[in-house]
Amino acid sequence: MNDRLHPTATRLSPIELEARYGAHNYHPLPVVLTRGEGVWLRDTEGRRYLDMMSAYSAVSFGHGHPELVAALTEQASRLAVTSRAFHTDRLGPFLERLCTLTGMDRALPMNSGAEAVETALKAARKWGYKVKRIPDGQARIVVAAGNFAGRTTTIVGFSSEAQYRDGFGPFAPGFDSVPFGDVAALEAAIGEHTCAVLLEPIQGEAGIVVPPPGYLRAARELCTRRNVLLICDEIQTGLGRTGRRLAVDHEEVVPDGLTLGKALGGGLLPVSAFLAREDVMAQFTPGDHGSTFGGNPLAAAVGLAALDLLEREQLAERAAAMGERLIGALKALGHPAVAEVRGRGLLVGVELAPDFASARAVCEALMAEGVLTKDTHGTVVRLAPPLIVDAPQIDFAVAAFARALKACGG
Ligand SMILES: *Cc1c(COP(=O)(O)O)cnc(C)c1O
Repeated sequence: MNDRLHPTATRLSPIELEARYGAHNYHPLPVVLTRGEGVWLRDTEGRRYLDMMSAYSAVSFGHGHPELVAALTEQASRLAVTSRAFHTDRLGPFLERLCTLTGMDRALPMNSGAEAVETALKAARKWGYKVKRIPDGQARIVVAAGNFAGRTTTIVGFSSEAQYRDGFGPFAPGFDSVPFGDVAALEAAIGEHTCAVLLEPIQGEAGIVVPPPGYLRAARELCTRRNVLLICDEIQTGLGRTGRRLAVDHEEVVPDGLTLGKALGGGLLPVSAFLAREDVMAQFTPGDHGSTFGGNPLAAAVGLAALDLLEREQLAERAAAMGERLIGALKALGHPAVAEVRGRGLLVGVELAPDFASARAVCEALMAEGVLTKDTHGTVVRLAPPLIVDAPQIDFAVAAFARALKACGG
């Protein structure tokens, strides 16, 4: 390395370099990771950690899955990026698999989750104007309080989280927010200019909030009756995470639009998609919408391999079984510091008692016990390991959790 160009590189630690040269938009735990294999991570000191966080569910297949790495390297050396100006031999098979797996008619590939949600918003509005005949510029979309759908200016504009919005306005109009899980409020918010309802089947970033049983089914019936699209954001809950392929499968709901991301990239690449029924996706014509990297052959090859793996290894079923074990064991601790254990499959949140230590402090104590995860919303510890996790690893995590509570004074 040229020391004149990188004068501090030899003096500052990786953490110090991030602090010195990076934007301070994250507050990571003080661990520097260098390797990952399956459910395990290793740091620069050679310590080993169980990954109970999976990069917010992006690493559902575990770190460095040999089959996914093989798909990545093989495709990378053959053909990686072409743009959508041309066809490739990889995109079609990926889209077909996405549609057959989810029961949707068509898929539009993007990269990040936020881009998939933006695509859904565009499709919904255009459908509203062209099919539902909403007057130009008047389309409205109903969202739920506590939503998380990414960080673009439009998306944070309909967030109920003050910090996500503060200083980033003005925001796009046309969104109505209702309490999550409340069917009557949803019904009341739908007006004649409403084109869509956008919901997460379980709110992940809000702290693993599971709506009352029947909520999604009721939302489906309501949207059908009022000629409004039901769009489900399954970027975090989809692809086996909650114990079914999609979280909407728990209530046998078929949405009109669906967003996937995170695990779709096999933990190797950002790969997302907006999927929809025919007349919704038909709103896009050449030139309407696009992405330089969306649907590139490298992403398509890895995404296809990830979907293959999900099915072949029956990871949704595994998530259901391991999630039951995790939730059962956490509840069985009967610890007074645990106010609630909630979640579905391997998307689990532990709500700490209000007078107990912060979730951040518990995560730091967990780190000392060889388990990595992140707090969400101050009081919730997220537990969402790769779906390949096994029973002894779940038991290890729960034992570590009990010790971490003790270390925090519990
Ligand atoms: C993470 C997430 C997103 C945004 O995905 P990015 O890849 O970070 O843009 C959108 N919706 C939900 C439900 C998510 O959990």
